[in-house]
Amino acid sequence: MAHTEGLGITPDTHGHPTVIVEQGRFCFARCGCGWRGPARRARSQARTDGATHEGSTRG
Ligand SMILES: [Zn+2]
Repeated sequence: MAHTEGLGITPDTHGHPTVIVEQGRFCFARCGCGWRGPARRARSQARTDGATHEGSTRG
């Protein structure tokens, strides 16, 4: 029964909105808290890095 109405963030990020940044042939995950993941050639891998970061900061 989560009440997320009106919140500006999505329930699954908890203040860690990660985005995928492309840099040349590489891409990496970047978070609103300043964290940056390692450069990856596969975007799916960068996405996994971001998800891992979000999960590790959730507590
Ligand atoms: Zn973060």
